[in-house]
Amino acid sequence: AIDPTLRTTRTTCPYCGVGCGVLATPDGSGGAAIAGDPEHPANFGRLCSKGSALGETVGLEGRLLYPMIRCKGVLERVAWSDALDHVAHRMQHIVARDGADAVAFYLSGQLLTEDYYVANKLMKGFVGTANVDTNSRLCMSSSVAGHRRAFGADTVPGCYEDLDKADLLVLVGSNAAWCHPILFQRMRRNKEERGARIIVIDPRRTDTASDIDLFLGVKPGTDTALFAGLFVHLADNGALDKDYIANNTSGFDDALARARSIAGSVTATALATGLSEQDVAAFFAMFRETERVVTLYSQGVNQSAQGTDKVNAILNCHLATGRIGKPGASPFSLTGQPNAMGGREVGGLANQLAAHMMFTPPEIDRVRRFWKAPRIATHEGLKAVQLFEAINRGEVKALWVMGTNPAVSLPDADIVREAMKKLELFVVSENVLSNDTVEAGPHVLLPALAWGEKSGTVTNSERRISRQRSFLPAPGEARPDWWILSEVAKRLGFREGFNYKSAAEIFREHAALSAFENDGSRDFDIGALQSVSDEAYDALVPLQWPAREGQSPGERFFANGGFFTNDGKGRFVAPDVPALRSETNAGRPLRLNTGRIRDQWHTMTRTGLSQRLGAHLPEPFVEIHPDDANKYGVVDDSFARVTTDYGQSILKVVVSERQQRGTLFVPIHWSAMNTSHGRIGALVQSFNDPFSGQPEAKATPAAIAPY
Ligand code: SF4
Repeated sequence: AIDPTLRTTRTTCPYCGVGCGVLATPDGSGGAAIAGDPEHPANFGRLCSKGSALGETVGLEGRLLYPMIRCKGVLERVAWSDALDHVAHRMQHIVARDGADAVAFYLSGQLLTEDYYVANKLMKGFVGTANVDTNSRLCMSSSVAGHRRAFGADTVPGCYEDLDKADLLVLVGSNAAWCHPILFQRMRRNKEERGARIIVIDPRRTDTASDIDLFLGVKPGTDTALFAGLFVHLADNGALDKDYIANNTSGFDDALARARSIAGSVTATALATGLSEQDVAAFFAMFRETERVVTLYSQGVNQSAQGTDKVNAILNCHLATGRIGKPGASPFSLTGQPNAMGGREVGGLANQLAAHMMFTPPEIDRVRRFWKAPRIATHEGLKAVQLFEAINRGEVKALWVMGTNPAVSLPDADIVREAMKKLELFVVSENVLSNDTVEAGPHVLLPALAWGEKSGTVTNSERRISRQRSFLPAPGEARPDWWILSEVAKRLGFREGFNYKSAAEIFREHAALSAFENDGSRDFDIGALQSVSDEAYDALVPLQWPAREGQSPGERFFANGGFFTNDGKGRFVAPDVPALRSETNAGRPLRLNTGRIRDQWHTMTRTGLSQRLGAHLPEPFVEIHPDDANKYGVVDDSFARVTTDYGQSILKVVVSERQQRGTLFVPIHWSAMNTSHGRIGALVQSFNDPFSGQPEAKATPAAIAPY
């Protein structure tokens, strides 16, 4: 039971992957006072604008508060038992008729680890399909694939402390000043107090690139060429750690030969990337001469049809210099969402099983025995874009969406919306009564607890597990996602595996699976927490994995080798020659780049409730270079029509030198619910990375004209 008086609760911010600790004090009338948690090692008391405004977003306006079933086209309130019976009955019918692969879950990096665990277990172990994917596919799955190729596991070798200790911080495809603000402040403090240098590599000159040491405005899609050039430069200028390479890695010669063919000199790198030779040489020299380098990469790298190769081109440079997993020296993937990492840990991606295990025969068998699973999935499921394509073809007939808004966020979003209308069973678990996905016509709406009401764990970008704790009472009939899933599982006949009484019980099982038959060959292991009591779980302080039984938690990875590949060696990967998947042409002469703004989160269902946050950039816009504005006749502060082969939008024009010639930038947040024109997913092409399945979101050919 929640004490509604002024008791302060330690919890974690529900927005970005920094995972800041929050102190929340209910105000007794449904709101809460919010402060940063000085004891949380992610933020030491600091919060950014979004985190600070959380108290303004916890009201019940627009909340979905009871289950609903569509009856003769209209959603009607029903009892929980009726809604759950209906979902289970329809799922059972479709599986019996069309097989398990005809049903699918589409999850979210907003879910808690315990929710994710139950969803994954139900589908992969009991229903018998791996059609469980998540919006994290759109966010960091190329980093996952790159890590697996290089390290043999999805391991993040670095930690936030490295940002304080590095002498050079290289940000690639990351507007951290807006998207990971508390971490960026930490980097800036390092610069001010220790003289660390900062390099930003990005086609846009974002706020992150203000007052730094070097800005490299690369042409879209050329990051691989830049890091291939760097790899060659390190090899030709005596900067390799030959002992580290010889003792701990494989594939060096092939990867270097490929890098030479892509960008074998400073001149070739400059030509490939559109940079000046002087800037390329300056970057190479800084990287070469600085032992403590952290390279941070985010969506500008991941959201690409060659995202995995970009990740590996970066990792190659760190493996070649042995700068990995050491204090102040490591590659570092910045995750977008609050629990993208927790989702990865439980297997929330369609190509993973659970606890970082994959669809290999021994690991399938291990998970099957642990779960006592009657119908374990034996092959990978459909990744996000593939999943909605299969729905559109009529192959997947039942979909359950939890805590995400794919009608806005997926590429080619109009097709996604149309596909949803073809579903025989369409279930949405949500906090809100209305968003674009809810408007797409689900047959069943299930009210889930929101941030502040639900309780469980999340994992941030540095592998740190923190508690999200409830500090507000459950409103209406809203329930935890794990409870809703478990109730459906029981109705499907799986009472034995889903008789959970609490999130703590689920967490213990998740921790036990991570340690099950793990002789140290799997990176994700939190076995030390498998017997945690309810009280200890409730009091859990933020801790980094691994947390193996009998060992202190939070070891660094790979400083001395010890990779998770079959031979224990880190792998250099020869990337493909960089090339964008689509061409510009006379009708579509520009490249459309998408991204976030400072004060909004995803599709604004929470941040949109705060007037303060809305004041920063109040309407959807398109940013364009002054030369392009002249060329295409659009004027600052007027409206323009942006058109791609997939859709069009009317947007406010912002003319800015920040934008590279030949490119446009549009924010992702607005939807048909808050503007008739800002639903950007409908403009974005649907090309996926071949290794990760992550869609390209940064380079759709586009045109602009005055409106
Ligand atoms: Fe929340 Fe991220 Fe801001 Fe921290 S940096 S307060 S986690 S949005």
